[in-house]
Amino acid sequence: MKQDRGDPSAAVCVIGAGPRGTSILERIAANAPEILGDREFAIHLVDPFPPGSGRTWRTSQSELLWMNSAAEQVTMFPGSSVRCAGPAYPGPTTGAWLAETGRDPLHDGHYASRPAQGRYLQEFFHGVRTHMAPNLRLHLHRATAVDVRHAGTDRQCVVLDSGRGAVPAAQLVLAQGHTDVVTDTPRGLTRIGPGRADEDGLDRIPTGAPVVVRGLGLVFVDCLLLLTEGRGGRFRARAARRPPPLSPVRPRARAVRGFPSRCPALPQARVHPELALSAAASPHPGDVPRPAAPPGVRLRPRPVAPALQELSWAYYHELFTAHPGRTRMDWASFAAQYERFADDDDRAAKLVRAAVPDPDDHFAPERLTAPLAGHHSPDPLALQRRVRAHLRDSVRRRREPRHSAHVAVIRALGAVGGVLGDLYHAGELPPAAAAVALRRFSVGAFLSSGPPPLRMEQLIALSEAGVVTFTGPGTTVTADEDAALFRAASPHVRATYTARILLDARLPEPDLARTADPLLRRLLAAGHISEETAPDATGSPRPTGALRVRDGHPLDAAGHAHDSWYVAGPEQFPHAGTDAGFFRRNDEIARAVLRRAADRPAAA
Ligand SMILES: Cc1cc2nc3c(=O)[nH]c(=O)nc-3n(C[C@H](O)[C@H](O)[C@H](O)COP(=O)(O)OP(=O)(O)OC[C@H]3O[C@@H](n4cnc5c(N)ncnc54)[C@H](O)[C@@H]3O)c2cc1C
Repeated sequence: MKQDRGDPSAAVCVIGAGPRGTSILERIAANAPEILGDREFAIHLVDPFPPGSGRTWRTSQSELLWMNSAAEQVTMFPGSSVRCAGPAYPGPTTGAWLAETGRDPLHDGHYASRPAQGRYLQEFFHGVRTHMAPNLRLHLHRATAVDVRHAGTDRQCVVLDSGRGAVPAAQLVLAQGHTDVVTDTPRGLTRIGPGRADEDGLDRIPTGAPVVVRGLGLVFVDCLLLLTEGRGGRFRARAARRPPPLSPVRPRARAVRGFPSRCPALPQARVHPELALSAAASPHPGDVPRPAAPPGVRLRPRPVAPALQELSWAYYHELFTAHPGRTRMDWASFAAQYERFADDDDRAAKLVRAAVPDPDDHFAPERLTAPLAGHHSPDPLALQRRVRAHLRDSVRRRREPRHSAHVAVIRALGAVGGVLGDLYHAGELPPAAAAVALRRFSVGAFLSSGPPPLRMEQLIALSEAGVVTFTGPGTTVTADEDAALFRAASPHVRATYTARILLDARLPEPDLARTADPLLRRLLAAGHISEETAPDATGSPRPTGALRVRDGHPLDAAGHAHDSWYVAGPEQFPHAGTDAGFFRRNDEIARAVLRRAADRPAAA
């Protein structure tokens, strides 16, 4: 057997063994026979958590934490629908795999628990490992990477916190997912987060203690469940079609920002075919040529407006084809005129009024993005009623087939996010536009990442029981160290809420300067990586908190790319049967790694 541990040139080190790192491992294994033949190659996979599931999907976490994607949609297997240079690797979606094993039930009809998804991911990893060609040597390191020594030289190696010998590898893949940030806690107060729900951290909240909560998304819902059902509360349906209460409920949570985003898409909603045309307009840097942009499809440097057009297109396509009784013309006539008025909002609105009689059936993105826009009462009780009404409406639109056009929009968001992701990775979007667009349309943002409807019903019940109080739009939280209190107040509501505990229930925005990841901290301090900037209102460059990346490689402090380092950030799970960018990008990284290894002299 050749000694590969000491030969960096014939090795890659993948840091992070969550879904992204594991998928890249699979792509390396799939592409290796074509590119490397039978040459020896070592793959080092570093993660303190088990490979496949990694940290986010670890199987030891509470079963109360669920995915917010429908299990029948998501897959780790790149099937034949993926247009990449490497071979397909067909296999089941999470839903199909869970049904086969019969072990883990789906919740609320569609959602796997996070530990169940972790089992699927671990099984995927074991399958990849088992089928790996014998010339590929996989080394697993249950450790955290803390430094890269001799970076960029032929002695490059990754230092681990396990104290074991450093890992020699000429190439690095950074797949660390959402990393935590270091935060300050005001004197005499308790602050938990920001970051994913952490069961140990939540133990610091005594039963019955008031809490100010920041954030109303995925992490908030996770925390809410751990603090209620997780502490012995039970969710009981009062009567059919009524929001059931959770009881007993212990801690008093106060949610402080706007609304949770809408529920994720129903799998049965249809996506209109024209979306594929826009996707084709996205320049694709991969090995496979993409069709040229069809006439009339333009994606501008400011991508939000065309993205909104795509969403309205998806909405009306579903409305006209699935609910023709609520429209006054057929889809073909409407679509032809609607397309003509793409740049003329007044005429498009007039057409919609003529073709769709009920205003409630008109596509109104602001109903989703700013549902409190028409609410002007400063009365806190009126606000509670208004938010609950919005949540009930969201659940109704999510569950009732007559609202399938809204579900189509939510599905289309995934496709729009994919196109924007492609543009971003191809360097076609300026950083500022990319930040705005991706925040609104991509990973976990906007309305695509809302909780399952049952979770929303539980939130309504907790609000009715007075356990959760919504503080209103634009809420700010301030720390009063003298009074040892956090104060939360919205400029639009006549109420201030106080607590000694702040639960910052949000995933932190990327903030390289404050990252808690020891490897990124070290690389930044050494100037091996650097922070992205974007012009502020005056045109001066301002740090954005994101890693500075060009063509998938990190740039050092002097602006030079590390050509043998690859950045593979967190992405949502790919959907089965689509040409998911997740797989295409992982395939590109894998092929680049293998080509580079093939170009080097063989290991001695
Ligand atoms: C709580 C949560 C729930 C989500 N739910 C969904 C969902 O339902 N559907 C969906 O599509 N997307 C979801 N996402 C988004 C996305 O799918 C996940 O973030 C996904 O896990 C990303 O995969 P990843 O491999 O990039 O990151 P991770 O899964 O975070 O994996 C990264 C791994 O890197 C390791 N690591 C980090 N630093 C180091 C280091 N220095 N040395 C060694 N190892 C290191 C970590 O331990 C971790 O295991 C969710 C994200 C979060 C945070």
